[in-house]
Amino acid sequence: MLPPYRPESYVDFTQDDHKARMLDAIHAVSSQLGKSYSLRIGGKDIQTNDRITSICPAATDQIVGQVASATAQHAEQAVEIAYHTFKMWSRVEPDTRARILAKAAAIMRRRIYELSAWMCFEVSKSWIEAYAGVCEAIDFLEFYAREMMRLSGGHPTTPYAGEENEVRYIPLGVCVVIPPWNFPLAITTGMTSAAIVTGNTVVLKPASTAPVIAAKMVEIFREAGLPDGVLNFLPGSGSVIGDPLVDHRHTRMVAFTGSKEVGLRIYERAAKVHPGQIWLKRTILEMGGKDCIVVDQTADLEAAADGVVAAAFGFQGQKCSACSRLIAHESVYAELLDRVVEGAKGLTIGHPGSPENVFMGGVIDKHAFAKIKEYIDIGKSEGRTVLADGEVPMGGYFIPPTIIADVDPNARIAQEEIFGPVLAVIRGRNFNELLDIANGTEYGLTGAIYSRDRMRLERARHEFHVGNLYLNRKCTGALVDVQPFGGFNMSGTDSKAGGRDYLQLFMQAKTICEEF
Ligand code: NAP
Ligand code: MG
Repeated sequence: MLPPYRPESYVDFTQDDHKARMLDAIHAVSSQLGKSYSLRIGGKDIQTNDRITSICPAATDQIVGQVASATAQHAEQAVEIAYHTFKMWSRVEPDTRARILAKAAAIMRRRIYELSAWMCFEVSKSWIEAYAGVCEAIDFLEFYAREMMRLSGGHPTTPYAGEENEVRYIPLGVCVVIPPWNFPLAITTGMTSAAIVTGNTVVLKPASTAPVIAAKMVEIFREAGLPDGVLNFLPGSGSVIGDPLVDHRHTRMVAFTGSKEVGLRIYERAAKVHPGQIWLKRTILEMGGKDCIVVDQTADLEAAADGVVAAAFGFQGQKCSACSRLIAHESVYAELLDRVVEGAKGLTIGHPGSPENVFMGGVIDKHAFAKIKEYIDIGKSEGRTVLADGEVPMGGYFIPPTIIADVDPNARIAQEEIFGPVLAVIRGRNFNELLDIANGTEYGLTGAIYSRDRMRLERARHEFHVGNLYLNRKCTGALVDVQPFGGFNMSGTDSKAGGRDYLQLFMQAKTICEEF
């Protein structure tokens, strides 16, 4: 029996011992940059002529790794191998599958500083953001292992004379897993382990900007004893292999986390039944957000400002849960804005692989850099620029914290997901208006409210329509099975990663009745 699940604890990098271990890991990883990684289909490592070059966002001349890039033929091959391996894997005892997750968690725990350092280089996470990302990956493994043990075996139904009845959960088949780059270990591990522990086989297509950390995860599953063919690793461009993977007649489900645009495409394509396909595909599609923090006139403004700065600029604003709108009551608006600007001015920006332990690194790639810059220009014309164009180091995709005030709730920078360190500040005259603005986008992922008014907090519980609502704390930083995570409306298909309903999404229920 496994002991009860408990989330991993973070460490304090101002303490010398943790700082020293992180610096050692950064040193070790920097000597391994630029290595090659292959596809893995069945038990075979496959090299390709085309390569994905993973670049460090904070030093664009630094190559993190060279990764093989799959073609449509590889996609076909990977789904077929996964389809055939399903016959074996679906019959392996749930407890056995769960133990592989527990073992993988133990390996990650032993390598936590090293895995953190890889994310400092590959996606420019700060030390604590990277470390928290490994903790979350471990949490998913530990939690889903226990969840599978809980869900395995027969579940009782209403007794009926002369019969034995039960319901059991069985796996679906081949699950195509498509994660984003922004939580390249946590989300990748979460979706992959959920599919595997429930008895499905997986074709994993990692994000092209973060394939190296995904390769590390695949290595860890192998070391943990996962049989060949259960997890097939298929880095490659989404625009080349995305459709073939989703469309394949032997694909049974798709678990995707990423942008609304790609999510909608998958939703539509997965609905089509192809010749030879004998099921309706299931999809889990977790998409973008336009999250906000609401601050009323009774709030603790210091706490609110700290929460906004952390949620808006942590990991350069590249979290689906990031605070991209601050909606404040007019009577505290000016003071709160001053505090937020002061806080943002104090943030450090640089290479997370340097000894400084910076707060912000670079944004993920040149496309993100250009897109965010474009939104900043749009923002400058849509509101009053109160913080922008701060000094940044050379050599990386650095964008300093940017704050645009007096933004109309329907302005583009108040409606569209920017996915960068850009905060739109919006004024409201009363609580009804604050809530209307908060709910006034097509998304519904996370939201927070700072208030000391009990009745307003209670109203927010009912009327603030987001999947993850936080009262008197920031809107980022959900923990596995503490705050199960996932949004409403265009933020996704209403699943809750790291929650107690999640694994059922990867299974179907079979009713068995025997008359004696
Ligand atoms: P993205 O551009 O949608 O990419 C996500 C994944 O989809 C990548 O692996 C990408 O591969 C792949 N892809 C691209 N085109 C595809 C296609 N035609 N068919 C199938 N797959 C395809 O998103 P991202 O930039 O990586 O991530 C940022 C987005 O994720 C934001 O919108 C953020 O809000 C959202 N997000 C949501 C959650 C949540 O829980 N709701 C959590 C984290 C992030 P390539 O890299 O090869 O293009
Ligand atoms: Mg990169």
